[in-house]
Amino acid sequence: MRRVRLVGVLCVAVAAALALRGYLGTMQPVERSDILMDTFIRVRVYGRGADAAAQAALDEFRHLERLLNPYDEGSELAAINRSAGKGPVKVSPETFEVIEQAVRFAESSGGAFDPTVLPLVKAWGFSGTPRVPAREELATARALVDYRSVALDKASMTVGLLRNGMGLDLGAIAKGYATDRAVAVLRARGVKSALIDAGGNVFALGRKPLGFRRSSEWVVGIQHPRQSSEYLARIRLENETAVTSGDYQRYFEADGVRYHHIIDPRTGYPARGLTSVTVVGASSTAADALSTTVFVLGERPGAEFLGRMAGFGAVLVTEGGGITVTGNLESKTEAITPP
Ligand code: ADP
Ligand code: MG
Repeated sequence: MRRVRLVGVLCVAVAAALALRGYLGTMQPVERSDILMDTFIRVRVYGRGADAAAQAALDEFRHLERLLNPYDEGSELAAINRSAGKGPVKVSPETFEVIEQAVRFAESSGGAFDPTVLPLVKAWGFSGTPRVPAREELATARALVDYRSVALDKASMTVGLLRNGMGLDLGAIAKGYATDRAVAVLRARGVKSALIDAGGNVFALGRKPLGFRRSSEWVVGIQHPRQSSEYLARIRLENETAVTSGDYQRYFEADGVRYHHIIDPRTGYPARGLTSVTVVGASSTAADALSTTVFVLGERPGAEFLGRMAGFGAVLVTEGGGITVTGNLESKTEAITPP
């Protein structure tokens, strides 16, 4: 009788220890980070297999950076750019897919978003030493920016730029694309709960575990465009991404004027009117492209444009400090401080 009781007590103890181990496993995330794609990337994963999954997600960013960095002469993007005006280049399916999507966003935005913006980015020195370019230089660069001169051939998996001097720069979409791919890597490994932060591109997978079977939505803050330590608002996310484009991420000042890295291809100058745009939706690729697009279009046309995109909402902050919230985001967003 006593032996049976002892075995019973032992079984309960072992079960409790296992449950505790499982519980701690879901509660304590694994965090991996690295500087990739010109930004600080952090992957936080909960649950079984978190370690290997977080590493695999970071590896995906590394892999895509090697393909898509226009300033790395060994990348596929650099090969396409070198071959501008000379002929198409065979690329891997990932490179093809992200360029194809970028061109689609260029078409739907009428060129406000344009992945062939590289000549303008170079003219402004954002790839090296920033400076205000001369008018003629800007006009020359602007004439080379044209998404309609990108030749895509899916059957042969080739990409060509039709004119000499053209160049692709996927800076406004590559991080979003890489984020979606990294999320797919996590999902394929059975991860139910994770947070990826790729410098302004956040993806919240599942819900945040709070322990004892409790969980909550993930909460991300929208940074104040002029006070980096303050947040303007909080957004609750679940299986969603929030991507911010801001004029405070990369800029320089000359004669008291702020020149930032989001360029309006129609003028050749940094886009005016907004200081930050955060787009929320299910696809990080789309949200990345859309946040840049809305930034370029400005408050009214930008909000109208986004209104036509089902499934996306945005928080727009104007130069005057006004905040506009679009789509179904109001229910998920809470203001913290007035700008
Ligand atoms: P961040 O790089 O800070 O996340 P964005 O996603 O808005 O911000 O991307 C800005 C980058 O995209 C620039 O550094 C430049 O490489 C590129 N870019 C600038 N203007 C445009 C544009 N109108 N369309 C597409 N890409 C752009
Ligand atoms: Mg973007």
